[in-house]
This record gives sequence, structure tokens and C-alpha cells, in this order.
Amino acid sequence: MAKELACRKCKTLTTEKVCPNCGSTELSEEWSGLVIIINPEKSQVARTLGITKQGRYALKVG
Ligand SMILES: [Zn+2]
Repeated sequence: MAKELACRKCKTLTTEKVCPNCGSTELSEEWSGLVIIINPEKSQVARTLGITKQGRYALKVG
């Protein structure tokens, strides 16, 4: 399995070279804390992180 990278801008996790969410190429290998957001409207974590779409995100991006 390829190492996932976390977008520095929106924290989306991806194995691509470009963030599929915001199109940023600023991706980091140094991230921690996997968060899976299924229901952004009801998720306190999503609110805290400013996430509005469902998906998999890093809690911290280094
Ligand atoms: Zn992004």
C-alpha cells in the first residue's frame, strides 16, 4: 500500500500527487491522527477541523 500523504491546506489524505479535495500540491508525509468523517454536519471533530465534506483526514499535518 502506498504511503498516504496529507494535504497541508485541507488535511485530506491521498495517495495522489495532487489533493483531490482542494487541488493543492502541498502534501506532507508527516501527519498523524487519522480521522474518518462520515457526517460532517453532525461531527464535532469535523467542526473543529473545519471539514465540510466526508472523507479521511489527518488530525495533524507536520
Ligand atoms: Zn487539500
